[in-house]
This record gives sequence, structure tokens and C-alpha cells, in this order.
Amino acid sequence: MPNILDTAIEFLKGVGPHRAELLRNELGITTYQELLEHYPYRYIDRSTYTSIKDLPYVDNYVQVKGWIDSIKEIGIGRSKKLIARFKDETGSIDLIWFQGGHWIKSQLKISETYQLFGKPKLYGNAWNIPHPELTPFSEVVRHTGFQPLYPSTEKLSAKSLHSRGIEKIINTLLPQLVGKIEEPFSPWIIEEHRLLRKEEAIFKTHQPSSLQEIERGRFRLKFEEMFFLQLELLMRKGKSEKEIRGHVFQTTGDYFNDFYAHHLPFELTNAQKRVIKEIRKDLGSGRHMNRLVQGDVGSGKTLVALLCMLIAGGNGFQSALMAPTEILATQHYENICELLGEMSIGIHLLTGSTKKAARAKIHEDLNNGSCHLLIGTHALLEDPVQFQNLGLVVIDEQHRFGVAQRARMRAKNTVPPHVLIMTATPIPRTLAMTFYGDLDVSVIDELPPGRKPISTIHRYESHRVALLGFMKKEIEKGRQVYVVFPLIKESEKMDFHNLMDGFEAISRYFPLPQFQVSIVHGKLKAEVKEYEMQRFVKGETHIMVATTVIEVGVNVPNASVMVIESAERFGLSQLHQLRGRVGRGAEKSYCILMTGDNISKESKKRMETMVATQDGFEISEVDLQLRGPGDLMGTQQSGALQFKIANLAKDGQIIQLARNTVQELRALDAELVRDDHQKMRQRLLHLLAIKPNWGKIA
Ligand code: ADP
Ligand code: MG
Repeated sequence: MPNILDTAIEFLKGVGPHRAELLRNELGITTYQELLEHYPYRYIDRSTYTSIKDLPYVDNYVQVKGWIDSIKEIGIGRSKKLIARFKDETGSIDLIWFQGGHWIKSQLKISETYQLFGKPKLYGNAWNIPHPELTPFSEVVRHTGFQPLYPSTEKLSAKSLHSRGIEKIINTLLPQLVGKIEEPFSPWIIEEHRLLRKEEAIFKTHQPSSLQEIERGRFRLKFEEMFFLQLELLMRKGKSEKEIRGHVFQTTGDYFNDFYAHHLPFELTNAQKRVIKEIRKDLGSGRHMNRLVQGDVGSGKTLVALLCMLIAGGNGFQSALMAPTEILATQHYENICELLGEMSIGIHLLTGSTKKAARAKIHEDLNNGSCHLLIGTHALLEDPVQFQNLGLVVIDEQHRFGVAQRARMRAKNTVPPHVLIMTATPIPRTLAMTFYGDLDVSVIDELPPGRKPISTIHRYESHRVALLGFMKKEIEKGRQVYVVFPLIKESEKMDFHNLMDGFEAISRYFPLPQFQVSIVHGKLKAEVKEYEMQRFVKGETHIMVATTVIEVGVNVPNASVMVIESAERFGLSQLHQLRGRVGRGAEKSYCILMTGDNISKESKKRMETMVATQDGFEISEVDLQLRGPGDLMGTQQSGALQFKIANLAKDGQIIQLARNTVQELRALDAELVRDDHQKMRQRLLHLLAIKPNWGKIA
């Protein structure tokens, strides 16, 4: 029997083929079901009237009861508009029509009482209401409840499918669906969370009569939306865990134990210990590990990676550590060699600039198994790089590697090596749950002891002279300074110009031979960049002027000042990453955010957040609120994050609840074979069928 919800929208009374086509093109609505899932984005309380004296303070649609005091048309031709003075006992406000004024004028009656509905706006310094809806009070059908507002478009509005029009057709549809909306959830889920039943939730969401109904209806629908996404993610994860077996690392092994007992330079933080335990458990289980380790800059991810690689080594497996740049790979190599000290572990560095002879030796050692640990860049991905028995791949700073590259590393052994991804870009938990829903996530949420906080200061352009003086003082104390400029594609020419101007100004203020100033940006040849970076690493230059090419991972403990120019143009997570370049040594460090004198409210909020906290997770939460999930994760993935009703930035608790419930469900019945779970299973299959890419987010 065909489901009424699959009926084409054109058959709904009041729609027809022409509007149906518009609905499809403008909103992607083709069936009853999809119209039903076109949820209101906001509601207006129709049961109260606002006094005119309060209007300027309401940033929303309002309902007012009053009368028209006078009407006039002003202007001529196209710029003609109609203005009516509207009054109640508390004051008056102008109503404005930019189009259709003539007709409206003929309809309005002076002194008659109207119910007005509209949104106040400030033009110049006067408040008015453009294009309000006016209904003679005698004709008002008493709206007691809440009126839903629906997303619409200009084209739809022109065909009377503005919010009001959409409300109308939904009101036509709903009565036909009584008793026809299936409940996918088993009774235990409904009871556990005291959910409204689906049909009720849908009706209440479109036609609520109280705030409580709105909340309960929306809660139920959001929960369902998130539930099925989590169900798909966790089912997929379960499936790949069952199908792909991982190497079993039976013991922690001698390398790990020796290192832990004799070479570990400091006590691990509790967070490091916990994460290593989590990884250790994966590695011993026979599961194939796919784990993301999130940890703020400086939280000690390298050490965690090293310990895991030692476990692999102790079990007879080789490891690879891949970094996004040559500098980073080299730093890891040097750092790890130093940590390992006298231990007899075969370790090599392989990058684009490794010479041919050295390369041949590395290939040989990888093949015969005497190289236990290979560190490098993308060069590790190349085909001649063949391992005897690769067991673990660590990818540092994950965002620079694509999924395809990860897959290439995995293919380097018949049984795929375990994968550990380390990222210093914390993302909010709820986002991680959705984005990396099929990865395991570990969090190092603690910095090693003794870190000095970085003083973060927001300064306006007008303080520039003082800034230069401050930089000089720090340099005279022996410190080094970064000065970072924004450079983005959209405004590349001008940005580049600003960068060069800035470089010149700094060079003038810090003249040779007393001062050395370097510059690094994307247009330089790789060797030149490398050379300048190395000079800074070695302390040969005092100031590094750069674009964000230095964002990732470089470690220069003696650099204690980070100046970020035009800081208002950077996103929060980028600012946080940049700040993480300092505060690595024993000296007190500073991050100075330079902005123009006039910045937007949102930019101000970003600066305030940076000044207020150094916690990457806290910052990522604010970032999510300010920018929304699409921007946060990159536009390429934002499509996958378009939900019908849930909002990743606001509904974190619901997402967590949905995930917990799915886990509970899978513990009871992992494959959904129980009778009372069949509806859920069907719903999942249906969702997968209509959206083949749904859930394939990460
Ligand atoms: P990130 O997480 O940014 O990659 P690193 O691994 O580079 O951080 O570690 C930053 C610094 O902290 C390094 O100098 C490292 O030696 C040091 N470190 C790591 N773990 C600890 C610890 N438990 N106690 C003290 N210092 C630590
Ligand atoms: Mg690191």
C-alpha cells in the first residue's frame, strides 16, 4: 500500500503543478513528507499585543492593536512610497509600503482599529514597520496560540508561498495525516526519555498552542533526527570493526618498558596516561584502531605517539609518523632521537629533500625490518616506500591530510596498520561525535605542569608605537618575536601588499645590523622558506614576519611574543593555533592581537574570548556558536551538516542523549533483530535509501 506521505506535493489542495515546481526548486520539497519536515524556525506569540512604546526594544515580529491616524504618499515614480501613522494609547509609529501603496491606501480606513503584525526596523534614527499585515480588528479570528514562521524565498513569496502561505498549505495537509504518521521508536525509548509520540510532535511543532508544546515537539523531532544519524554512524563503525581485523599487540613490550623506566624525562600527565591506556586497549584487542587524539597545542601529543610506536616496536611491528611539513617532520625526528637516547631502535627521517643514497638505505632498512620507526612528510606515501611489517601509522595535525592519503598509508600492509590521528584543533564534543562519529576520540585535556600562561592583549591600531617599543624591549632581553599577517585568496593582492608594507616598516624600525628580520610566505620557494624558518629556529633572526604558513607545529621555545596583525580577520581557532606558537619556553610569553579601531561586534567577541581563555575546547565552543558548524569544519562538509531541525551548535545535549541511547540500543540488540526494533531498522534503511551520502561525514 503506498504511503500517503510519499504523495507528490502538487496533489495537495492549494499547491498544483506550478507551485510544486517552485517548492522543489527553491526548497527541495517534493512530497508530503518533505513538506511536513519543513519546520518553523521561530514562533510568534499571537495571544498578546505589544505596546508601541516598547517596539524599539523588540527584535522580532510583533503584534500591535491600534488605529491609523493619517496616510500620505510621498515621492514620485519608482521611489514612491506610502506612509501611514499608526497609534495606540502609548505612542505612534510609521508604517511604510515601498510597493503597492496605491492599492493599500484604498483599503485602509482612518480611525478603524486594526491588528497589526510586522517587524519593527530602524531607518536612520526613526523606528518604523515596513510592509506590515493589517487586519481590521472586527475580522480577527482570535489567534490564541503561537504562529509558526517558516523559511521561504523571494520567488516563493511572489507566488504567495511566504511564511503565511506555507503555514496555510501545511494546515491543509495536517488533518489528512491523522493516524498516518508512523512511530519508529520502540516503547522503551519513548518512555525512557518521556518523548511525545511522533505524530503528536509533528502536529505540535506546526500548530502549537503553548511554549511547552513547542519545546516538547521540537525536542522529540531533534532527538529523532540525531538518533538516526548516530545509529547509522555507530552501525557503520560496528560493521567495519567486525570486518577489518587489526594486528594484535599482545604486550607493551621491552621497548616501551625500557623507555618508561629509564628514559621518560618527566612524569606523564593524567590525561596522557588515560589516553595511552585507551590506545593500549585498542591495540591489544584485535580490533582495527582508528583513533583521533585531540589535544591542545603543547599538551604533549608527541610523547603519546612515541609511546604507542614503542609498543608497536616491542611487538615486532614497524611504525610511521607523518607530519604535514618538512620542518615539523625534522623537529619530530630530532625530538624523538633525543628522547630515545641510547636505546637501540632503528629510526629514519624521510622527506622530499632526502638524498638518493640515503633514500636507498632507508628503503633497505624498511624492507629488512631494521628500521622500526620512520618519520617523515608526504614522502612516506610514495610507492617505493615499502615496509616489512607496518603496524601503526601516526598522522600529526590531521587537518592537512585528506582521507585519500590516510587510505594510502593503510594500504601499506596486507592487514591494515592501526591509525592514530593527532590534532591540535580541538572541536566541540558534539561536533566530533557527528563528524568523526565512526572514529574513536581521545582527548588530552590537560597541559603539562609548570606552563606559564600566555598574556593575551588586544590592542587597537592607535597603540602601534607602544607595540614597537614593547617588541624592542623583549628582543633586547634576548627573546624572538613572530608577526603574523592574514593572507587569503579573496583579497590576496592587497593582503600581500600589507604584508610587504608591514615587513618594511618593521625592518625600518629594527635596522640591520643590530636586528635581523625574516619573512616567510607562501610565494617563496620551499628552500627559501625552509632556510628562513631554520634561521629563526636557530635564533639567528629576531623577528619572523609571516603569513599563517607558520601556523602548524613549529617549536621555537625562545620565541615569546606573537603579534597578530588584523586579528579581526582571523577565525578563533586560527588565533588560538597561532598563539600556541609561543609559551613554549621558560620565559613569560605574550600574544598581542592588533585590530583596526572599529571592529564588528562579532570580532570584538572573538578578541574578548582570546583574552579571557586559553582553553582550546572552550574557544572551539564559542567558535561554534559564532560561526556555525559548516564554517567550522570547512564548506566542503557543511552540506552533510544540514539538519531538518536539530542544530549542532545549540543541541549538544540532545546529540549526546541520542548517542547514549543508540549505544544502549546496540548493547541490547546490535543488529536490530528484535521485533520491537523493526520499525527503527526500517526507518534507518529508508533514510539511507533516500540519502545515500547521509552519515558519511568524516
Ligand atoms: P603537542 O601536543 O602540541 O604536539 P608536544 O608533544 O610538542 O605538544 O609537547 C610540548 C612540550 O611539552 C614538549 O617540549 C614536550 O617535551 C613537553 N611535554 C610533553 N609531555 C610532558 C609532561 N608530561 N610533562 C612535562 N613536559 C611534557
Ligand atoms: Mg605536535
